[in-house]
Amino acid sequence: MGKTKIIATIGESTNSKQKIKELILKGCDAVRINMRQADYSFCDNIFKIIDELNKELNTTVSVILDTNGPDIRVGKVNENNAFLKGDTIVRIYKEDVLGDETKFSVSYDNFVSEVKIGNTISINDGLVELIVEEKEELYLKCRVIKEGTINSQSDVHVVGIKLDIPFLSEKDKQDILYAHKKNADFLAVSFVSSSEDILEINDMLIELGNDHMGILAKIEKESAIEEIDEIIKVSDGVIIARADLGVEVPMERIPGLQKSIISKCHMAGKISVVAAELVSTMEENMRPTRAEVSDIANAVLDGVDAVMLSGETTIGKYPIETLDIVEKIIVSAEEGIDYLSLLDKAARTEKQDVTGEISYSVAMLSCRLKCKVIVAPTISGYTAKKISRFRPSCSILAITSDVNTARSLSLNFGIMPILVDEFKNLDSMITKSKKIAIEKFNLEKNDKIIITGGYPFKEVKHTNFVKIEEI
Ligand code: PGA
Ligand code: MN
Repeated sequence: MGKTKIIATIGESTNSKQKIKELILKGCDAVRINMRQADYSFCDNIFKIIDELNKELNTTVSVILDTNGPDIRVGKVNENNAFLKGDTIVRIYKEDVLGDETKFSVSYDNFVSEVKIGNTISINDGLVELIVEEKEELYLKCRVIKEGTINSQSDVHVVGIKLDIPFLSEKDKQDILYAHKKNADFLAVSFVSSSEDILEINDMLIELGNDHMGILAKIEKESAIEEIDEIIKVSDGVIIARADLGVEVPMERIPGLQKSIISKCHMAGKISVVAAELVSTMEENMRPTRAEVSDIANAVLDGVDAVMLSGETTIGKYPIETLDIVEKIIVSAEEGIDYLSLLDKAARTEKQDVTGEISYSVAMLSCRLKCKVIVAPTISGYTAKKISRFRPSCSILAITSDVNTARSLSLNFGIMPILVDEFKNLDSMITKSKKIAIEKFNLEKNDKIIITGGYPFKEVKHTNFVKIEEI
């Protein structure tokens, strides 16, 4: 298995225990539920399936709940489809109207009052564009400058301005409460504009007493790009949501932004995820294009933690084949990672404390001694994450007795979390670590492994030993 993680969104193509089991066996590390499409009975079923499969397969697959976010959608359209012809006039109404080729309404009440003359409105993934020519109290009069079809629920963006829409809708609040009750491992937060948005969610989780759920900020707005450093600082990681981002900023900027965000996350010790259209050709075909293969490989070479599949595993015809191919691309690309350069970069921003220095040394040692695996017995997962940040060239086995810790490590590069019973003493821990390492990585005589952690367990708060064992 590769060290770069794979997230699969669950949808109609994969909504069964058997299919999810196959995804996991092919290398899926986390599943995502998109609250734009899912209802609670769908979610209940996924949480149940994941818990059952984790027990049956002895895996630690996590669940990511993805919020709807403060997006704006087209209202109901007659027969769910209207063609807006180039250079015609279309009115966007404040009150609900049944949409057609001359008019429609949108889901945000203050849309008509906040949008200004001259603004460009982009609809349906950027396929359709309107320019606002006149503004009345009840409607905006717009001219179609890029013709195309709109549907009920098509996405609506106003290019270049920030609307005063509240960040958390009632639905999002309810969904976050639901995620808390279900003990979801991560919350993917859609359409984040600023670090304030993440802090608002943080406050909610603190009030709920939830210290498990990781927060992943989805970067899909231009304002999030402007505030990227602050957003990374207050989140556990970010998802580069290229579908919506590609509507908000010119598409050609995405590759550069992606590289820079991956690097910033790595330097800050936060998770980075690349999402959208990874191998969308595989929604319909058995094989990806060469360009898609190259796209994933490049993200891996840049040091991304995880890649996320959407349409390929929700509506695609070949979800299992997709996992298989993505895993192969990852394994092959990882051979080209410049591990020492990533190690060097991370070291420049690491604070000089005992855990940091030991983690750095362990990553360095594993490269220089060509160790086969690093074993990190852990309670909170802190040491394992630290080591992952230094990008050692071998895998990190994070051995823990805490199921929440194990699942919280599912997105970090190179970490293989393993659930075990609590250790009684150092000797039993070392014996067990060796045994698991041999089993999981088919180790042979003379292979070297590194074991690192804190001892006495639970008493020390930082990493304090490194042991090199030969098989
Ligand atoms: P979505 O996010 O699938 O929730 O829209 C991904 C993206 O915008 O890239
Ligand atoms: Mn999106």
